[in-house]
Amino acid sequence: MKILVSVKRVIDYNAKVRVKADNSDVDLANVKMALNPFCEIAVEEAIRLKEAGVASEVVVVSIGPKTVQEQLRTALALGADRAIQIDTEQMPEPLNVAKLLAKVVEAEQPGLVILGKQSIDSDNNQTGQMLAALTGRPQGTFASAVKVEGDKAVVTREVDGGLRTVELALPAIVTTDLRLNEPRYAKLPDIMKAKKKPLEVKTPTDLGVELKQHIELLKVEAPAARQAGIKVDSVDALVDKLKNEAKVI
Ligand code: AMP
Repeated sequence: MKILVSVKRVIDYNAKVRVKADNSDVDLANVKMALNPFCEIAVEEAIRLKEAGVASEVVVVSIGPKTVQEQLRTALALGADRAIQIDTEQMPEPLNVAKLLAKVVEAEQPGLVILGKQSIDSDNNQTGQMLAALTGRPQGTFASAVKVEGDKAVVTREVDGGLRTVELALPAIVTTDLRLNEPRYAKLPDIMKAKKKPLEVKTPTDLGVELKQHIELLKVEAPAARQAGIKVDSVDALVDKLKNEAKVI
């Protein structure tokens, strides 16, 4: 079985996010970029399924400018077999990503597509669901466990207040939640080897998809700055402040 993993390049989650002076967007100048953490989990799960003999090939795909090749190489170093970049100037919105992925799915016919549950930059949580709708494949979103049994995938989903286990007929779409696995680190020899693994570049035109923008970003605002805390000398002073200033007890 082939597994297709869709990975997004985002701001590294450790980096301090700055908003542009005109509030038009997040300032990406000189900011460290990385694999979206949920996509890292998706790559790890695919590699584990390959190591377990369930999958025979792991293909990673990313949509965006040439810089996304950096994240594709990271996924190749982690163990993916080959990569596809779909070259676009900007990071497209989820519906466009899903339409492009649907074309890749049509061409590659993977038994399983694994995506992150959400991008940590735009927090959409839409692409996997849209891809499932466009391809007519069953979906197991927010997965905290994935087991492939014959022509079915059993997916444990993290839902509000508990777990929900569903069985999907393959081919299917899965999106990863945080507890699915703990991704490995790429080893230096694997980073070197990844440079020689195949990376194919396609355009939306090659795939017959016209990108239409449906969403306009109006403005981005940083959260209000938090006030500095204070130290109190005693428990009595703390209780007094909680009672009379914060009025929470
Ligand atoms: P979102 O719907 O934007 O929150 O993203 C959910 C998941 O869709 C991500 O974790 C990725 O697996 C995939 N995805 C979103 N944008 C892209 C992109 N530009 N290239 C590849 N995969 C993407």
